[in-house]
Amino acid sequence: HQSPKSDIEIAQAAKPRRIADVAKERLGIAIDNLEPYGHYKAKVSMEYIKSLANKPNGKLILVTAINPTPAGEGKTTTTVGLTDALNHIGKKAMCALREPSLGPCFGVKGGAAGGGYAQVIPMEDINLHFTGDFHAITSAHNLLSALIDNHIYWGNSLGIDTRRVAWRRVLDMNDRALREIVCSLGGVANGYPREAGFDITVASEVMAIFCLAKDLEDLKTRLGNIIVGYTRERKPVRAKELNAHGAMAALLKDAIAPNMVQTLEGTPAFIHGGPFANIAHGCNSVSATATALKLADYVVTEAGFGADLGAEKFIDIKCRKAGLKPDCVVIVATIRALKMHGGVKKEDLKKEDLKALEAGMSNLQRHIENLKKFGLPAVVSINRFSADTDNEIKLVKEKCKALGVEALMADHWAMGGEGAADVAKAVVKTIDEGKANLKFLYPDEMPLFEKIRTICKEIYRADDATADKSVKDQLKTWEEMGFGKLPVCIAKTQYSFSTNPDAKGAPTGFNIPVREVRLSAGAEFIVAVCGEIMTMPGLPKTPSADTIDVGADGRIVGLF
Ligand code: ADP
Ligand code: MG
Repeated sequence: HQSPKSDIEIAQAAKPRRIADVAKERLGIAIDNLEPYGHYKAKVSMEYIKSLANKPNGKLILVTAINPTPAGEGKTTTTVGLTDALNHIGKKAMCALREPSLGPCFGVKGGAAGGGYAQVIPMEDINLHFTGDFHAITSAHNLLSALIDNHIYWGNSLGIDTRRVAWRRVLDMNDRALREIVCSLGGVANGYPREAGFDITVASEVMAIFCLAKDLEDLKTRLGNIIVGYTRERKPVRAKELNAHGAMAALLKDAIAPNMVQTLEGTPAFIHGGPFANIAHGCNSVSATATALKLADYVVTEAGFGADLGAEKFIDIKCRKAGLKPDCVVIVATIRALKMHGGVKKEDLKKEDLKALEAGMSNLQRHIENLKKFGLPAVVSINRFSADTDNEIKLVKEKCKALGVEALMADHWAMGGEGAADVAKAVVKTIDEGKANLKFLYPDEMPLFEKIRTICKEIYRADDATADKSVKDQLKTWEEMGFGKLPVCIAKTQYSFSTNPDAKGAPTGFNIPVREVRLSAGAEFIVAVCGEIMTMPGLPKTPSADTIDVGADGRIVGLF
Protein backbone atom coordinates (compact mmCIF):
# COMPACT_ATOMS: atom_id res chain seq x y z
CA HIS A 1 0.00 0.00 0.00
CA GLN A 2 2.85 2.38 0.76
CA SER A 3 3.26 4.89 -2.03
CA PRO A 4 6.86 4.94 -3.21
CA LYS A 5 6.62 8.50 -4.51
CA SER A 6 6.89 11.79 -2.64
CA ASP A 7 3.96 14.20 -2.59
CA ILE A 8 5.61 16.56 -5.08
CA GLU A 9 6.43 13.70 -7.46
CA ILE A 10 2.82 12.51 -7.42
CA ALA A 11 1.58 16.07 -7.91
CA GLN A 12 3.96 16.75 -10.80
CA ALA A 13 3.08 13.46 -12.53
CA ALA A 14 -0.60 14.46 -12.63
CA LYS A 15 -2.01 15.93 -15.79
CA PRO A 16 -4.09 18.86 -14.57
CA ARG A 17 -7.13 19.99 -16.52
CA ARG A 18 -7.60 23.64 -17.38
CA ILE A 19 -9.30 25.25 -14.42
CA ALA A 20 -11.84 26.92 -16.72
CA ASP A 21 -12.94 23.44 -17.87
CA VAL A 22 -13.15 22.15 -14.29
CA ALA A 23 -15.23 25.16 -13.24
CA LYS A 24 -17.53 24.84 -16.25
CA GLU A 25 -18.05 21.08 -16.23
CA ARG A 26 -18.18 20.45 -12.50
CA LEU A 27 -19.87 23.61 -11.26
CA GLY A 28 -21.41 25.27 -14.30
CA ILE A 29 -19.34 28.44 -13.95
CA ALA A 30 -18.84 30.23 -17.27
CA ILE A 31 -15.34 31.45 -18.06
CA ASP A 32 -16.51 35.07 -17.91
CA ASN A 33 -17.15 34.58 -14.21
CA LEU A 34 -13.56 33.55 -13.55
CA GLU A 35 -10.43 35.62 -13.18
CA PRO A 36 -7.83 33.12 -14.40
CA TYR A 37 -4.31 33.23 -12.95
CA GLY A 38 -2.68 31.18 -15.69
CA HIS A 39 -4.35 27.93 -16.78
CA TYR A 40 -4.66 26.09 -13.49
CA LYS A 41 -5.69 28.67 -10.91
CA ALA A 42 -8.55 31.14 -11.01
CA LYS A 43 -10.41 33.50 -8.77
CA VAL A 44 -14.19 33.44 -8.95
CA SER A 45 -15.49 36.93 -9.62
CA MET A 46 -17.19 38.72 -6.73
CA GLU A 47 -19.91 39.87 -9.13
CA TYR A 48 -20.79 36.26 -9.89
CA ILE A 49 -20.64 35.34 -6.21
CA LYS A 50 -23.18 38.07 -5.45
CA SER A 51 -25.49 36.63 -8.12
CA LEU A 52 -25.59 33.30 -6.24
CA ALA A 53 -27.09 34.82 -3.08
CA ASN A 54 -30.55 33.32 -3.50
CA LYS A 55 -29.42 29.80 -4.34
CA PRO A 56 -29.96 27.15 -1.65
CA ASN A 57 -26.94 26.00 0.36
CA GLY A 58 -25.35 22.57 0.07
CA LYS A 59 -24.40 20.49 3.10
CA LEU A 60 -21.38 21.49 5.17
CA ILE A 61 -18.93 18.90 6.50
CA LEU A 62 -16.24 19.93 8.97
CA VAL A 63 -13.03 17.90 9.10
CA THR A 64 -11.29 18.05 12.46
CA ALA A 65 -9.04 15.70 14.42
CA ILE A 66 -7.71 14.35 17.68
CA ASN A 67 -4.91 16.37 19.30
CA PRO A 68 -1.96 16.40 16.91
CA THR A 69 1.13 14.29 17.63
CA PRO A 70 4.46 14.01 15.81
CA ALA A 71 2.97 10.86 14.20
CA GLY A 72 0.80 13.05 11.92
CA GLU A 73 -2.96 12.88 11.51
CA GLY A 74 -3.82 14.07 8.02
CA LYS A 75 -6.73 16.50 8.18
CA THR A 76 -5.96 18.23 4.89
CA THR A 77 -5.28 14.89 3.19
CA THR A 78 -8.62 13.63 4.51
CA THR A 79 -10.47 16.79 3.45
CA VAL A 80 -9.21 16.35 -0.10
CA GLY A 81 -9.69 12.56 -0.10
CA LEU A 82 -13.22 12.77 1.28
CA THR A 83 -14.18 15.38 -1.32
CA ASP A 84 -12.90 13.13 -4.09
CA ALA A 85 -14.68 10.19 -2.42
CA LEU A 86 -18.01 12.04 -2.39
CA ASN A 87 -17.62 12.66 -6.11
CA HIS A 88 -16.60 9.04 -6.55
CA ILE A 89 -19.93 7.88 -5.07
CA GLY A 90 -21.80 10.22 -7.41
CA LYS A 91 -22.24 13.37 -5.33
CA LYS A 92 -21.41 16.93 -6.36
CA ALA A 93 -18.81 17.96 -3.82
CA MET A 94 -16.02 20.49 -3.44
CA CYS A 95 -13.72 21.48 -0.62
CA ALA A 96 -12.59 24.73 0.99
CA LEU A 97 -9.11 24.85 2.52
CA ARG A 98 -6.62 27.32 3.90
CA GLU A 99 -3.80 28.78 1.83
CA PRO A 100 -0.44 27.57 3.10
CA SER A 101 1.94 30.07 4.62
CA LEU A 102 5.11 30.46 2.57
CA GLY A 103 7.61 30.88 5.41
CA PRO A 104 7.18 27.45 7.02
CA CYS A 105 7.65 25.70 3.62
CA PHE A 106 11.35 26.46 4.05
CA GLY A 107 11.43 25.30 7.66
CA VAL A 108 10.23 21.92 8.88
CA LYS A 109 9.10 19.50 6.21
CA GLY A 110 5.35 19.21 5.86
CA GLY A 111 3.02 20.42 3.13
CA ALA A 112 -0.36 22.01 3.39
CA ALA A 113 -1.85 20.84 0.12
CA GLY A 114 -2.68 17.28 1.24
CA GLY A 115 -0.54 14.25 0.54
CA GLY A 116 -0.16 11.05 -1.46
CA TYR A 117 -3.07 10.62 -3.89
CA ALA A 118 -5.21 13.13 -2.04
CA GLN A 119 -3.70 16.48 -2.98
CA VAL A 120 -4.68 19.79 -4.49
CA ILE A 121 -2.60 20.95 -7.45
CA PRO A 122 -0.52 22.77 -8.62
CA MET A 123 1.05 22.12 -5.21
CA GLU A 124 4.22 24.16 -5.86
CA ASP A 125 2.13 27.23 -6.67
CA ILE A 126 -0.27 26.67 -3.79
CA ASN A 127 2.65 26.42 -1.37
CA LEU A 128 4.67 29.29 -2.88
CA HIS A 129 3.14 32.69 -3.76
CA PHE A 130 -0.06 31.19 -5.23
CA THR A 131 -2.29 34.06 -6.43
CA GLY A 132 -0.54 36.66 -4.31
CA ASP A 133 -3.19 36.92 -1.58
CA PHE A 134 -0.64 36.75 1.22
CA HIS A 135 1.49 39.41 -0.44
CA ALA A 136 -1.60 41.63 -0.58
CA ILE A 137 -2.36 40.95 3.08
CA THR A 138 1.26 41.64 4.04
CA SER A 139 1.18 44.92 2.11
CA ALA A 140 -2.12 46.03 3.63
CA HIS A 141 -0.82 45.25 7.11
CA ASN A 142 2.48 47.07 6.57
CA LEU A 143 0.76 50.05 5.00
CA LEU A 144 -0.97 50.58 8.32
CA SER A 145 2.38 50.21 10.14
CA ALA A 146 3.90 52.86 7.88
CA LEU A 147 0.93 55.19 8.38
CA ILE A 148 1.24 54.93 12.16
CA ASP A 149 4.92 55.90 12.22
CA ASN A 150 4.28 58.56 9.61
CA HIS A 151 1.50 60.03 11.73
CA ILE A 152 3.82 60.22 14.73
CA TYR A 153 6.58 61.71 12.58
CA TRP A 154 4.37 64.52 11.32
CA GLY A 155 3.32 65.74 14.75
CA ASN A 156 1.17 62.95 16.17
CA SER A 157 -2.10 64.90 16.37
CA LEU A 158 -3.90 61.79 17.65
CA GLY A 159 -1.50 61.63 20.59
CA ILE A 160 -0.45 58.00 20.05
CA ASP A 161 1.80 56.93 22.91
CA THR A 162 4.87 55.56 21.10
CA ARG A 163 5.34 53.08 23.95
CA ARG A 164 1.85 51.73 23.36
CA VAL A 165 1.81 51.14 19.61
CA ALA A 166 0.04 47.78 19.37
CA TRP A 167 0.43 47.26 15.64
CA ARG A 168 3.59 45.45 14.54
CA ARG A 169 4.86 44.63 11.06
CA VAL A 170 4.51 41.31 9.19
CA LEU A 171 6.42 39.18 6.70
CA ASP A 172 5.60 35.73 5.29
CA MET A 173 8.94 34.27 6.35
CA ASN A 174 10.26 32.35 9.34
CA ASP A 175 12.75 34.93 10.57
CA ARG A 176 13.52 35.01 14.27
CA ALA A 177 15.90 37.95 13.80
CA LEU A 178 12.92 40.22 13.29
CA ARG A 179 10.88 39.17 16.32
CA GLU A 180 11.93 42.17 18.40
CA ILE A 181 13.50 45.18 16.74
CA VAL A 182 14.11 48.88 17.30
CA CYS A 183 12.79 50.96 14.43
CA SER A 184 13.30 54.55 13.32
CA LEU A 185 17.00 54.60 14.19
CA GLY A 186 19.37 56.97 12.37
CA GLY A 187 18.44 60.48 13.33
CA VAL A 188 15.70 63.06 13.18
CA ALA A 189 14.76 62.41 9.56
CA ASN A 190 13.90 58.79 10.38
CA GLY A 191 11.39 59.46 13.13
CA TYR A 192 11.22 58.55 16.79
CA PRO A 193 13.09 55.37 17.74
CA ARG A 194 10.85 52.83 19.44
CA GLU A 195 10.70 49.12 20.06
CA ALA A 196 8.77 47.16 17.46
CA GLY A 197 8.79 43.75 15.82
CA PHE A 198 7.55 41.45 13.09
CA ASP A 199 5.01 38.63 13.09
CA ILE A 200 4.47 36.12 10.33
CA THR A 201 1.73 37.20 7.91
CA VAL A 202 -0.70 34.46 8.97
CA ALA A 203 -0.66 35.97 12.49
CA SER A 204 -1.79 39.37 11.20
CA GLU A 205 -5.18 40.62 12.30
CA VAL A 206 -5.65 41.63 8.67
CA MET A 207 -5.54 37.90 7.83
CA ALA A 208 -8.23 37.13 10.41
CA ILE A 209 -10.36 40.02 9.16
CA PHE A 210 -9.85 38.91 5.55
CA CYS A 211 -11.12 35.45 6.47
CA LEU A 212 -14.16 36.61 8.43
CA ALA A 213 -15.31 39.51 6.22
CA LYS A 214 -18.49 38.91 4.25
CA ASP A 215 -17.64 41.31 1.44
CA LEU A 216 -15.48 44.32 0.57
CA GLU A 217 -17.62 46.75 2.60
CA ASP A 218 -17.51 44.54 5.69
CA LEU A 219 -13.75 44.15 5.15
CA LYS A 220 -13.27 47.91 5.08
CA THR A 221 -15.35 48.48 8.21
CA ARG A 222 -13.41 45.86 10.12
CA LEU A 223 -10.04 47.20 8.93
CA GLY A 224 -11.11 50.63 10.20
CA ASN A 225 -11.91 49.15 13.61
CA ILE A 226 -8.39 47.79 14.18
CA ILE A 227 -6.85 49.25 17.33
CA VAL A 228 -3.37 50.42 16.38
CA GLY A 229 -2.32 51.64 19.80
CA TYR A 230 -3.28 53.78 22.76
CA THR A 231 -2.86 57.37 23.85
CA ARG A 232 -1.20 58.37 27.12
CA GLU A 233 -4.71 58.34 28.62
CA ARG A 234 -5.08 54.71 27.43
CA LYS A 235 -7.70 55.68 24.88
CA PRO A 236 -7.61 53.30 21.89
CA VAL A 237 -6.66 54.71 18.49
CA ARG A 238 -8.27 53.01 15.50
CA ALA A 239 -7.09 52.54 11.95
CA LYS A 240 -9.99 54.63 10.71
CA GLU A 241 -8.69 57.62 12.71
CA LEU A 242 -5.60 57.39 10.52
CA ASN A 243 -7.89 57.02 7.51
CA ALA A 244 -6.02 53.83 6.66
CA HIS A 245 -8.89 51.45 5.99
CA GLY A 246 -9.78 52.61 2.47
CA ALA A 247 -6.25 52.23 1.13
CA MET A 248 -5.82 48.91 2.95
CA ALA A 249 -9.03 47.57 1.40
CA ALA A 250 -7.87 48.81 -2.01
CA LEU A 251 -4.82 46.57 -1.68
CA LEU A 252 -7.10 43.61 -0.88
CA LYS A 253 -9.76 44.05 -3.55
CA ASP A 254 -8.52 41.24 -5.79
CA ALA A 255 -7.35 39.00 -2.97
CA ILE A 256 -10.82 38.82 -1.43
CA ALA A 257 -12.19 36.64 -4.26
CA PRO A 258 -11.74 32.90 -3.52
CA ASN A 259 -9.12 30.90 -5.46
CA MET A 260 -10.17 27.79 -7.32
CA VAL A 261 -7.82 24.90 -8.05
CA GLN A 262 -8.42 21.17 -8.49
CA THR A 263 -7.61 17.94 -6.71
CA LEU A 264 -5.55 15.22 -8.42
CA GLU A 265 -8.92 13.79 -9.53
CA GLY A 266 -10.13 17.04 -11.09
CA THR A 267 -12.49 17.98 -8.27
CA PRO A 268 -12.84 21.74 -7.74
CA ALA A 269 -11.33 23.13 -4.54
CA PHE A 270 -11.25 26.60 -2.99
CA ILE A 271 -7.99 27.54 -1.29
CA HIS A 272 -8.44 30.90 0.37
CA GLY A 273 -7.07 32.68 3.44
CA GLY A 274 -5.07 31.07 6.20
CA PRO A 275 -5.13 32.54 9.70
CA PHE A 276 -3.19 31.03 12.63
CA ALA A 277 -5.18 28.51 14.63
CA ASN A 278 -3.95 29.81 18.00
CA ILE A 279 -4.19 33.61 18.13
CA ALA A 280 -6.83 33.47 15.38
CA HIS A 281 -9.59 31.09 14.35
CA GLY A 282 -7.63 28.85 11.94
CA CYS A 283 -9.94 28.24 8.99
CA ASN A 284 -10.26 29.37 5.40
CA SER A 285 -12.24 32.47 4.41
CA VAL A 286 -15.96 32.81 5.02
CA SER A 287 -16.30 33.90 1.39
CA ALA A 288 -14.81 30.61 0.13
CA THR A 289 -16.97 28.43 2.38
CA ALA A 290 -20.14 30.40 1.74
CA THR A 291 -19.55 30.43 -2.03
CA ALA A 292 -18.76 26.72 -2.12
CA LEU A 293 -22.10 26.04 -0.40
CA LYS A 294 -23.84 27.79 -3.31
CA LEU A 295 -21.91 25.84 -5.92
CA ALA A 296 -21.85 22.25 -4.64
CA ASP A 297 -24.22 19.89 -2.81
CA TYR A 298 -21.52 18.88 -0.32
CA VAL A 299 -18.73 21.13 0.93
CA VAL A 300 -15.87 19.70 2.97
CA THR A 301 -13.76 22.12 5.00
CA GLU A 302 -10.94 21.83 7.53
CA ALA A 303 -10.31 23.53 10.86
CA GLY A 304 -6.74 23.78 12.18
CA PHE A 305 -5.21 21.76 15.03
CA GLY A 306 -7.36 19.32 17.05
CA ALA A 307 -11.09 19.61 17.65
CA ASP A 308 -10.56 21.28 21.07
CA LEU A 309 -9.14 24.37 19.34
CA GLY A 310 -10.08 24.06 15.66
CA ALA A 311 -13.65 22.80 15.78
CA GLU A 312 -14.56 24.98 18.77
CA LYS A 313 -13.33 28.12 16.99
CA PHE A 314 -14.86 27.08 13.68
CA ILE A 315 -18.22 26.85 15.43
CA ASP A 316 -18.08 29.57 18.08
CA ILE A 317 -16.30 32.16 15.93
CA LYS A 318 -16.69 31.44 12.22
CA CYS A 319 -20.13 29.78 12.16
CA ARG A 320 -21.52 32.21 14.74
CA LYS A 321 -20.32 35.22 12.75
CA ALA A 322 -21.09 33.94 9.27
CA GLY A 323 -24.33 32.09 9.99
CA LEU A 324 -22.89 28.77 8.80
CA LYS A 325 -24.35 25.50 10.08
CA PRO A 326 -22.34 22.28 9.72
CA ASP A 327 -24.34 19.14 8.97
CA CYS A 328 -21.72 16.58 9.97
CA VAL A 329 -18.26 16.49 11.54
CA VAL A 330 -15.52 14.08 10.49
CA ILE A 331 -12.95 13.39 13.19
CA VAL A 332 -9.64 12.26 11.73
CA ALA A 333 -7.59 9.83 13.81
CA THR A 334 -4.70 7.54 13.03
CA ILE A 335 -3.79 4.34 14.83
CA ARG A 336 -0.26 5.74 15.16
CA ALA A 337 -1.34 8.95 16.81
CA LEU A 338 -3.75 7.17 19.15
CA LYS A 339 -0.90 4.91 20.25
CA MET A 340 1.21 8.01 20.95
CA HIS A 341 -1.63 9.36 23.08
CA GLY A 342 -1.45 6.01 24.87
CA GLY A 343 2.24 6.50 25.67
CA VAL A 344 4.09 4.83 22.76
CA LYS A 345 7.27 6.56 21.55
CA LYS A 346 7.56 7.63 17.92
CA GLU A 347 10.28 5.01 17.23
CA ASP A 348 8.00 2.17 18.39
CA LEU A 349 4.90 3.04 16.37
CA LYS A 350 5.33 0.24 13.85
CA LYS A 351 4.69 -2.47 16.47
CA GLU A 352 1.15 -3.59 17.28
CA ASP A 353 0.19 -2.35 20.75
CA LEU A 354 -3.45 -2.83 21.65
CA LYS A 355 -3.04 -1.74 25.23
CA ALA A 356 -1.54 1.63 24.33
CA LEU A 357 -4.11 2.04 21.59
CA GLU A 358 -6.92 1.48 24.03
CA ALA A 359 -5.40 4.00 26.45
CA GLY A 360 -4.94 6.54 23.64
CA MET A 361 -8.57 6.19 22.61
CA SER A 362 -9.34 8.44 25.58
CA ASN A 363 -8.28 11.39 23.48
CA LEU A 364 -10.64 10.51 20.62
CA GLN A 365 -13.43 9.73 23.07
CA ARG A 366 -13.27 13.20 24.62
CA HIS A 367 -13.43 14.89 21.23
CA ILE A 368 -16.44 12.76 20.30
CA GLU A 369 -18.20 13.78 23.52
CA ASN A 370 -17.31 17.43 22.94
CA LEU A 371 -18.80 17.52 19.46
CA LYS A 372 -22.09 16.27 20.88
CA LYS A 373 -22.14 19.42 23.02
CA PHE A 374 -22.32 21.41 19.79
CA GLY A 375 -25.28 19.31 18.65
CA LEU A 376 -23.35 17.88 15.72
CA PRO A 377 -23.24 14.24 14.58
CA ALA A 378 -19.77 12.84 13.94
CA VAL A 379 -18.09 10.13 11.89
CA VAL A 380 -14.56 8.94 12.68
CA SER A 381 -12.25 8.58 9.68
CA ILE A 382 -9.19 6.44 10.39
CA ASN A 383 -6.46 7.63 8.07
CA ARG A 384 -4.69 4.40 7.14
CA PHE A 385 -0.94 4.03 7.54
CA SER A 386 0.83 0.95 6.21
CA ALA A 387 1.78 -0.38 9.67
CA ASP A 388 -1.82 -0.45 11.01
CA THR A 389 -2.80 -4.04 11.94
CA ASP A 390 -6.24 -5.67 11.61
CA ASN A 391 -6.48 -6.11 15.38
CA GLU A 392 -5.78 -2.44 15.94
CA ILE A 393 -8.34 -1.35 13.37
CA LYS A 394 -10.93 -3.68 14.89
CA LEU A 395 -10.33 -2.26 18.35
CA VAL A 396 -10.83 1.36 17.25
CA LYS A 397 -14.01 0.47 15.36
CA GLU A 398 -15.47 -1.39 18.36
CA LYS A 399 -14.58 1.34 20.81
CA CYS A 400 -16.16 4.00 18.59
CA LYS A 401 -19.28 1.92 18.14
CA ALA A 402 -19.63 1.72 21.91
CA LEU A 403 -19.47 5.54 21.94
CA GLY A 404 -22.28 5.70 19.40
CA VAL A 405 -20.24 6.81 16.38
CA GLU A 406 -19.21 4.96 13.28
CA ALA A 407 -15.48 4.64 12.54
CA LEU A 408 -14.33 3.75 9.04
CA MET A 409 -10.99 3.14 7.39
CA ALA A 410 -9.89 5.71 4.84
CA ASP A 411 -7.16 4.93 2.34
CA HIS A 412 -7.29 8.01 0.12
CA TRP A 413 -3.60 8.74 0.71
CA ALA A 414 -2.67 5.56 -1.21
CA MET A 415 -5.74 5.19 -3.44
CA GLY A 416 -7.32 8.61 -3.99
CA GLY A 417 -11.06 9.20 -3.55
CA GLU A 418 -12.01 5.56 -4.03
CA GLY A 419 -10.07 4.77 -0.86
CA ALA A 420 -12.37 6.93 1.28
CA ALA A 421 -15.67 5.79 -0.27
CA ASP A 422 -16.84 4.14 2.97
CA VAL A 423 -16.33 7.38 4.89
CA ALA A 424 -18.15 9.31 2.16
CA LYS A 425 -21.12 6.92 2.35
CA ALA A 426 -21.23 7.18 6.14
CA VAL A 427 -21.12 10.97 5.93
CA VAL A 428 -23.98 11.08 3.41
CA LYS A 429 -26.01 8.68 5.54
CA THR A 430 -25.40 10.79 8.65
CA ILE A 431 -26.40 13.97 6.84
CA ASP A 432 -29.55 12.28 5.46
CA GLU A 433 -30.58 11.43 9.02
CA GLY A 434 -30.66 15.19 9.62
CA LYS A 435 -29.52 15.05 13.22
CA ALA A 436 -27.42 18.21 13.23
CA ASN A 437 -28.79 20.87 15.54
CA LEU A 438 -26.01 23.41 15.99
CA LYS A 439 -25.59 24.84 19.47
CA PHE A 440 -22.95 27.36 20.39
CA LEU A 441 -21.03 26.70 23.57
CA TYR A 442 -21.89 30.09 25.07
CA PRO A 443 -24.27 32.95 24.31
CA ASP A 444 -22.99 36.37 23.11
CA GLU A 445 -24.25 37.92 26.34
CA MET A 446 -22.06 35.83 28.66
CA PRO A 447 -19.32 37.93 30.37
CA LEU A 448 -15.92 37.51 28.68
CA PHE A 449 -14.16 35.66 31.47
CA GLU A 450 -17.14 33.31 31.81
CA LYS A 451 -16.82 32.52 28.11
CA ILE A 452 -13.17 31.58 28.61
CA ARG A 453 -14.09 29.52 31.65
CA THR A 454 -16.87 27.73 29.77
CA ILE A 455 -14.50 26.63 26.99
CA CYS A 456 -11.85 25.53 29.51
CA LYS A 457 -14.29 23.48 31.55
CA GLU A 458 -16.58 22.09 28.87
CA ILE A 459 -14.06 21.40 26.11
CA TYR A 460 -10.64 21.03 27.75
CA ARG A 461 -12.19 19.61 30.97
CA ALA A 462 -10.07 21.85 33.17
CA ASP A 463 -11.11 22.32 36.78
CA ASP A 464 -11.12 26.06 36.17
CA ALA A 465 -9.65 28.96 34.25
CA THR A 466 -7.45 31.25 36.31
CA ALA A 467 -6.14 34.78 35.72
CA ASP A 468 -4.52 37.64 37.57
CA LYS A 469 -6.62 40.61 38.57
CA SER A 470 -5.01 42.69 35.81
CA VAL A 471 -6.32 40.28 33.16
CA LYS A 472 -9.82 40.25 34.64
CA ASP A 473 -9.78 44.04 34.94
CA GLN A 474 -8.79 44.35 31.30
CA LEU A 475 -11.72 42.17 30.26
CA LYS A 476 -14.06 44.30 32.39
CA THR A 477 -12.75 47.45 30.73
CA TRP A 478 -13.43 45.98 27.30
CA GLU A 479 -16.93 45.01 28.39
CA GLU A 480 -17.52 48.61 29.46
CA MET A 481 -16.23 49.76 26.08
CA GLY A 482 -18.82 47.57 24.33
CA PHE A 483 -16.71 44.56 23.41
CA GLY A 484 -18.44 42.20 25.83
CA LYS A 485 -20.43 40.42 23.14
CA LEU A 486 -17.39 39.26 21.17
CA PRO A 487 -16.49 35.55 21.09
CA VAL A 488 -13.20 34.44 22.63
CA CYS A 489 -10.33 32.80 20.79
CA ILE A 490 -8.07 30.70 23.01
CA ALA A 491 -4.38 30.53 22.15
CA LYS A 492 -2.82 27.47 23.73
CA THR A 493 -0.80 24.41 22.80
CA GLN A 494 -2.47 22.18 20.19
CA TYR A 495 -0.82 19.04 21.55
CA SER A 496 -2.94 18.58 24.65
CA PHE A 497 -6.31 19.45 26.12
CA SER A 498 -4.29 21.13 28.88
CA THR A 499 -1.56 23.76 28.59
CA ASN A 500 1.12 21.08 29.04
CA PRO A 501 2.02 19.74 25.57
CA ASP A 502 3.26 16.49 27.09
CA ALA A 503 -0.07 15.67 28.76
CA LYS A 504 -1.41 13.33 26.08
CA GLY A 505 -4.65 11.34 26.08
CA ALA A 506 -7.40 12.87 28.19
CA PRO A 507 -5.74 14.72 31.09
CA THR A 508 -7.73 15.79 34.16
CA GLY A 509 -6.98 17.74 37.32
CA PHE A 510 -5.52 20.89 35.79
CA ASN A 511 -6.30 24.60 35.53
CA ILE A 512 -5.91 26.78 32.47
CA PRO A 513 -3.99 29.95 33.40
CA VAL A 514 -4.86 32.94 31.19
CA ARG A 515 -1.60 34.88 30.96
CA GLU A 516 -2.70 37.73 28.78
CA VAL A 517 -5.70 38.93 26.81
CA ARG A 518 -5.67 40.76 23.48
CA LEU A 519 -8.42 42.57 21.66
CA SER A 520 -8.80 41.99 17.92
CA ALA A 521 -11.35 44.74 17.44
CA GLY A 522 -11.40 44.42 13.64
CA ALA A 523 -11.59 40.64 13.53
CA GLU A 524 -14.11 40.90 16.38
CA PHE A 525 -12.80 38.46 18.94
CA ILE A 526 -10.89 38.51 22.21
CA VAL A 527 -7.72 36.40 22.31
CA ALA A 528 -6.96 34.66 25.60
CA VAL A 529 -3.29 33.69 25.61
CA CYS A 530 -2.74 30.54 27.70
CA GLY A 531 0.91 29.60 27.31
CA GLU A 532 3.84 30.51 25.07
CA ILE A 533 2.57 31.50 21.65
CA MET A 534 5.07 32.15 18.88
CA THR A 535 3.85 34.64 16.29
CA MET A 536 7.15 34.73 14.35
CA PRO A 537 8.58 31.21 13.90
CA GLY A 538 12.26 30.51 13.29
CA LEU A 539 13.96 28.01 10.99
CA PRO A 540 15.40 24.71 12.26
CA LYS A 541 19.13 23.90 12.14
CA THR A 542 18.71 22.16 8.79
CA PRO A 543 15.81 23.96 7.12
CA SER A 544 13.99 22.33 4.20
CA ALA A 545 15.25 25.30 2.13
CA ASP A 546 18.38 23.13 2.05
CA THR A 547 16.73 20.63 -0.30
CA ILE A 548 14.41 22.91 -2.27
CA ASP A 549 15.74 23.74 -5.71
CA VAL A 550 14.62 24.60 -9.20
CA GLY A 551 15.96 23.03 -12.39
CA ALA A 552 16.90 24.84 -15.59
CA ASP A 553 13.46 23.81 -16.88
CA GLY A 554 11.75 25.67 -14.04
CA ARG A 555 10.70 22.49 -12.27
CA ILE A 556 10.77 22.72 -8.49
CA VAL A 557 12.23 19.83 -6.50
CA GLY A 558 12.51 19.04 -2.81
CA LEU A 559 9.30 20.79 -1.75
CA PHE A 560 8.18 17.86 0.46
P1 ADP B 1 -2.86 18.00 8.83
O1 ADP B 1 -3.76 18.73 7.89
O2 ADP B 1 -3.63 17.27 9.88
O3 ADP B 1 -1.80 18.86 9.40
P2 ADP B 1 -1.87 16.72 6.44
O4 ADP B 1 -3.07 16.17 5.79
O5 ADP B 1 -1.30 17.97 5.89
O6 ADP B 1 -2.10 16.86 8.00
O7 ADP B 1 -0.76 15.55 6.44
C1 ADP B 1 0.53 15.75 6.96
C2 ADP B 1 1.53 14.90 6.22
O8 ADP B 1 1.27 13.51 6.47
C3 ADP B 1 1.49 15.07 4.71
O9 ADP B 1 2.79 15.30 4.23
C4 ADP B 1 0.94 13.78 4.16
O10 ADP B 1 1.55 13.42 2.94
C5 ADP B 1 1.26 12.78 5.26
N1 ADP B 1 0.22 11.74 5.33
C6 ADP B 1 -1.10 11.95 5.52
N2 ADP B 1 -1.78 10.79 5.52
C7 ADP B 1 -0.86 9.80 5.33
C8 ADP B 1 -0.93 8.37 5.22
N3 ADP B 1 -2.10 7.73 5.34
N4 ADP B 1 0.21 7.69 5.03
C9 ADP B 1 1.39 8.33 4.93
N5 ADP B 1 1.53 9.69 5.02
C10 ADP B 1 0.42 10.42 5.20
MG1 MG C 1 -3.88 20.77 7.43
